[in-house]
This record gives sequence, structure tokens and C-alpha cells, in this order.
Amino acid sequence: MTGAAGKDFAGWCATFHQRALSEGIAPATAAALMGLHPIPEVLAKDRAQTEFTLTLRDYLERVLTPARITEGRAALARHARLFARIADRFGVEPAILAAIWGIETSYGQNRGTLRLLPALATLAHDGRRAAFFAGECLTALRLADHCGIDPARLTGSWAGASGHMQFMPSSILAHALDFDGDGRIDLWSDDPADALASAAAYLAHHGWQPGQPALTLARLPAGFDPAHTGKDHLRPLSDWRTAGLTFDHTGANQPAALLLPAGIHGPAFLWHDNARCLLRYNAADAYVLAVARLADHLAGRTPPQLVWPEADRALTLAERITLQQGLTAAGFDTGPADGRIGPNTVRALKNWQKANGLPADGHASPAILGRLLQQG
Ligand code: CA
Repeated sequence: MTGAAGKDFAGWCATFHQRALSEGIAPATAAALMGLHPIPEVLAKDRAQTEFTLTLRDYLERVLTPARITEGRAALARHARLFARIADRFGVEPAILAAIWGIETSYGQNRGTLRLLPALATLAHDGRRAAFFAGECLTALRLADHCGIDPARLTGSWAGASGHMQFMPSSILAHALDFDGDGRIDLWSDDPADALASAAAYLAHHGWQPGQPALTLARLPAGFDPAHTGKDHLRPLSDWRTAGLTFDHTGANQPAALLLPAGIHGPAFLWHDNARCLLRYNAADAYVLAVARLADHLAGRTPPQLVWPEADRALTLAERITLQQGLTAAGFDTGPADGRIGPNTVRALKNWQKANGLPADGHASPAILGRLLQQG
């Protein structure tokens, strides 16, 4: 296997071994890097990430299954005392913590079977985010020196997350704790106590606010101008009401953003500070929506049905690149046409929609792409 720098995997490991020693990793620990083999499955999964073609609707249907809801309620009942103790200490409600557990590993049933160190080394050697994974690989070694956790024995998912709550090595080092008091940190065995408490500590550290919602479903007034939606546009709830939105009182009291993840014809969500906090756990809006809605189910607050736009589907990677090229050619610069619909592409799309008399919701749909191509 040859990496971007033209260095084979064994050569990469030898160089990284030297780096680990120079950064103070104990020689006996760093020795774990020698004799590693790359895992082709890991690279295949990493490449597949860029071709993500599920709509939010499909993703939520796939994740929020009746089984996951039933099993989540059973898990909450089975570990009621543990969840209560964690809530007392960290202020994170049982339902939200259980929802993360359910989505990460189906309540500990799918904790991952790939060996952590070679998975991280594979991605550090030849992944899209080599520097990030090299850092995680080094941190995995540091765990052995600082916490007595042997990374050579850990298993996890293809991207280096492990245990019940799928912590990356850097999160383990910064936030993992021994909650059951047996003298060691154990995020990996059948007992979820340390893992659940560590995830709650992580959320508390990143500003989780007890008793506050993450999301509130809102209804838009007819003719609503979506120009000022998106996570950058925080407004007091009173402003949103003045703009004609209707939504239930959920105890939220801080400014919120308005998200239209499927465009103006899809569901509208007020995005509260706790949603930002969940985004620190996994940086996908869809993940936050899934966690928040699963938590509602688990807490016995069945969330309202969502109404989706007809005939929407996710654009393919090639279509996303075409969209970016089309917007840039039309004078609305998206930055590099990499197929990632990030803030620059959304801004360019909103400006193009506005210039063309369309609701500026920034939603990259097949209809919008068709209209753009007609013009060009
Ligand atoms: Ca423990």
C-alpha cells in the first residue's frame, strides 16, 4: 500500500515510531507501532463517506426504528439507578444520554470489532484527514502511558472510535473517568457505567444545559423569508415569534437559530445551545436531529410527525460538484467544487436563489440543480 507521500505502510510506521519516541511515548508502548498491518476495509469506508446519498428523511427513518426505541426504553429501565446518578452529577438527562448510546452502538450491542491502533494508523497513513488521525494515533499510545489503557488490545469502529459511546482517543484522554470506582477506566466491557458517565462529562464540559431542549419543532408562516436561517443567525425566541413562527413553549429561554434541513418545504427546527453541544459529539446536523428525536421517544414525549417535501432526494457527489461549478460560473462563488455542501456553498446558493426570486433556503435539491442548469 502506498500513501500520498509515496511511502509504504511499514515505512510510515517506522517514521511514526520515531515521532512517537520524540514526543515522549514510552519505548515499550511505541513498540506497538512496529509490525502493524493496514486495514483495507478502513480506507474503503473512509472513501465511501464522501458519497453520502441519504436524505435527512431516509437517515432518520433508518436510525429511529421501533426496535431502537423499544430497546432504549428497556435500557433506561435496566440502568435506571446508574442514569439517575449520572444525571445528578453531570446534569445530563437520562433520555438524551441513552439516545446517544442507542445511535452510537445500539446500547452497546455494536461496539466495533476492528483493532483500534492499525485502524488509526491506516487513516493516518493514507486517509483524507491524515494529520487528524496521526494525532489520534499518538494519543492512543499516550493512553497506555497515562491511563494504563493498552491501545493494542482495543477494538472499535473503522474511524478509531471505541467503546459504548464511541470515544476517539483524544476524548478518552480528556474526558473519560472511572465512575463506578473500581480503580480503572473501562469504556469497553459489557458494563456501561464508565462509558455513559464519561459521555455525560463530555457534554457537561461542552456546555450542556440541564432542563433545556436541544431542538424545538416550529411552524413557518406563509411567505416566510428563509434568508436568515442557519446556525449563524441566533435570535431571541421573541424575535422568531414576531417573524410569525409558532412553536410550543419548551422551557427554552436563550437565543436560537432556525434550521430548515430539507428546505422551505420541509420541517423547521429551532436550534438551541444544547444542539450546539450535541454537535460537539458528532458534527452532523442529521445526527443531532436523530439524537434529539430519539431522546423524545425514550422520555415518553412522542415527537410530532415531520412533514417532508415531495420528490426530494439527496444529490450525488457528481451532482453536488456540478451545482458548485454552476453557482460559481453564475457569479456566486462556492469556493472549491469539492462536493461538500458547506457554509460557502449554502451562502452562494442562498444568494443565487435571492437573485432569482426564489425562497433563499440554501437547500441543495434536484429541482434547484435543474433550474440552475437550465439557466447556464
Ligand atoms: Ca471503572
